[in-house]
Amino acid sequence: MAIADHVDFNRFMEGVKRRNPHQTEFVQAVQEVAEDIFDFIEDKEEYHSEQILRRISEPDRVVSFRVCWEDDNGSIRVQRGWRVQNNNAIGPYKGGLRFHPSVNESVLKFLAFEQTFKNALTGLPMGGGKGGSNFNPKGKSTREIMRFCQSFMTELYRHIGPDTDVPAGDIGVGAREIGYMFGQYKRITNEFSGVLTGKGLEFGGSLIRPEATGYGAVYFLADMLATKDADLSGKTAVISGSGNVATHAAEKIGQLGGKVLTLSDSGGFIHDPDGIDQEKLDWVKHHKTHRRGRISEYVDEFSGATFHEGKRPWNVECDVALPCATQNELMGEDARALVKNGCMAVSEGANMPTDLEGVHVFKDAKILFAPGKAANAGGVAVSGLEMSQNSERRPWSEDELQKMLRDIMHGIHQRCLTYGDHGGGYTDYVKGANIAGFKKVADAMLAFGVV
Ligand code: NDP
Repeated sequence: MAIADHVDFNRFMEGVKRRNPHQTEFVQAVQEVAEDIFDFIEDKEEYHSEQILRRISEPDRVVSFRVCWEDDNGSIRVQRGWRVQNNNAIGPYKGGLRFHPSVNESVLKFLAFEQTFKNALTGLPMGGGKGGSNFNPKGKSTREIMRFCQSFMTELYRHIGPDTDVPAGDIGVGAREIGYMFGQYKRITNEFSGVLTGKGLEFGGSLIRPEATGYGAVYFLADMLATKDADLSGKTAVISGSGNVATHAAEKIGQLGGKVLTLSDSGGFIHDPDGIDQEKLDWVKHHKTHRRGRISEYVDEFSGATFHEGKRPWNVECDVALPCATQNELMGEDARALVKNGCMAVSEGANMPTDLEGVHVFKDAKILFAPGKAANAGGVAVSGLEMSQNSERRPWSEDELQKMLRDIMHGIHQRCLTYGDHGGGYTDYVKGANIAGFKKVADAMLAFGVV
């Protein structure tokens, strides 16, 4: 960046911080994008005069609401719900719902902002949104989850619709929760429409939606490795998380010949030097999804594995790493440990798992680094395909969908190369993804005038 740009950039970020006090995650996400966009728009007058960067970093609207529900003891509980409708320049708002005690307006604004560029990168007509609640599903009975989901939808329904805003799952929201929310939406509106994605196959869901994010992150990783004439065969992988994204990323790594060494949850990580193969993964999936168990119990089941309480897996030596749990789970020092231990590629299955310092460590070391908005876009891409199937009222076959997912991830990789190629064999995928996503949304906004 030129010195004048630095001054403008600092002034821009000061404004973002002033307008969004205490919203550190949102400010972090805007900064990561703006760092790349400032260079890109330097000589493009229209983006400046129309204040596109300023407008794109302000959500279209943020809806906040009370969610009351009754627990199994008959006590009344009160939670807060939100839907952030960030930008619908290229299609209806689209993005997941997260139920986790750490959810607040800042987290959802950052996720909705990221989602806007991610959705643009897929090439499908989807705007960006995100929502959720500070409700903690852990330890709740199935009936309590159902009552909460119904109460949440009783307010949310008036803000969404198949051509307006189409939510999906995220942390704490899987097929069960989507089922309860879809049932309540249908009951209130008397309408059967594609208003949510991630639905069960019996009522409009799409094949391969559960696998899509994790598989997609590995496809992207494979595409990055291919630029170095390498592949996943024989490579060791360190993965964080043990939910939907982590377990499916691990599955695909195994299918492509790699060996997964770790998985984690909020209690710590397990290290299995023998590798977490399909049989072990099936146990993890069942244990986490149906028994709502903890990853620490893996070591009681499989000998040779160790559990590391309260720790993250980034010090384990590996060829590739996939952070697949949550935001800011891979910090600067973790990134330095990965680079020092010879890790050649990182693909973010989660949203913004690497903090800004970590991103700069990877960029400086010039390793292959795929930001979440590119690498984990497979999930929302198949959600987009679920919307198409719902509109067409015809489900597509698994083969068709697998091919489409592969093609979409390949297309995203190509878009990143177009804008992130630094010459000399180094691709800045963060920059590539930011610019490609920004350009599509920004050009649509220009076409609409000042609205
Ligand atoms: P799940 O709820 O299925 O799994 C989340 C995993 O992350 C669990 O293992 C959970 O552990 C762990 N985790 C959650 N919060 C923390 C924390 N604060 N510290 C440590 N570990 C934590 O969610 P998903 O797999 O669906 O989502 C994971 C990430 O991927 C999120 O960032 C999400 O936004 C992103 N993503 C998901 C998509 C999808 O299709 N599902 C699409 C694109 C992105 P525990 O059980 O202890 O809570």
